[in-house]
Amino acid sequence: MFWSGELIARSAPVRRRYTPERLPLAEHAVAAYVGLAIGDALGATVEFMTPNEIRVQYKVHEDITGGGWLRLKAGQVTDDTTMSLALGEAILKKGRVDAHAAAEAFDAWMRAKPVDIGNTVRRNLVTWRKSGNPEAELSQHDAGNGAAMRLLPVALACYGQPPESTILASRAQAHVTHHNTLSDAACETLIFMVQDFLAGRDAIEVERERAGQLVEKFPVFAWDRKRSENPSGYIVDTIQAVFQSLFATECFEDCLIDVVNRGGDADTTGAIAGMLAGARYGLQSIPRRWLRGLDELTRVRCEKQAEALIALSGAIQESLNR
Ligand code: MN
Ligand code: MN
Repeated sequence: MFWSGELIARSAPVRRRYTPERLPLAEHAVAAYVGLAIGDALGATVEFMTPNEIRVQYKVHEDITGGGWLRLKAGQVTDDTTMSLALGEAILKKGRVDAHAAAEAFDAWMRAKPVDIGNTVRRNLVTWRKSGNPEAELSQHDAGNGAAMRLLPVALACYGQPPESTILASRAQAHVTHHNTLSDAACETLIFMVQDFLAGRDAIEVERERAGQLVEKFPVFAWDRKRSENPSGYIVDTIQAVFQSLFATECFEDCLIDVVNRGGDADTTGAIAGMLAGARYGLQSIPRRWLRGLDELTRVRCEKQAEALIALSGAIQESLNR
């Protein structure tokens, strides 16, 4: 026999521990999606409460416990997450962002009797049923945060694409229910911020460039003034609360606790802040108690969709390069 210990050692395959490792891009995309759902589930408990009421009842609200005015089960999410998932499915089915497909997906979502639904969303989906036009009429009044809370699938599917086509895609999904200049500006800023964080860009740069440009164009968004407490569903209130929390903290947990304890539209500020903080810090930064606390089926759907949308972005990118 010619076997020697040395030969065996050299020819034996290197045993790798099997860990389903994701590339940093996909990992941060998953963190953004799971972060969105966690912020939604965490914030929903204190939605429509004032910071003072929250303090009296919880001291600091920091666990996923359900309840709230919607009487949710612990870990259950609301329209912010379920509309995102509906949009993401439509994008994956079409292979691109398509206004008609988004309108159909939102309508099917509405028919399935969601736990909550915004007035603007309902009104413009009912109008769409009659008109068949997936672009709502331009309205000064439709400046709610309903388009912004569900935009993550667009940010992921358009990763790496030129900004002009990303803006068109953002408006295609947004205008199904919210056709409004301030909403548009906020949605586009949020999408570029998510993409910047996925690309590993520094938060100071992102703040200066993206958030700075938003305020330059629309000074009403200036967030570095008065602390935004009890933020309403008005997109300006939402953005101010989210940016204050995101840029004043240095980890996922602090950011989310800070934003939801402001009360008001806390599930939506939580969802948007969770999306940005997830993209910024990655999965490792998300507290285990929150990962475990989130409804499991929802978590798995978010993870799968994030990976599929990032994979789609590569395919779209390739077809653009051809
Ligand atoms: Mn909600
Ligand atoms: Mn809300």
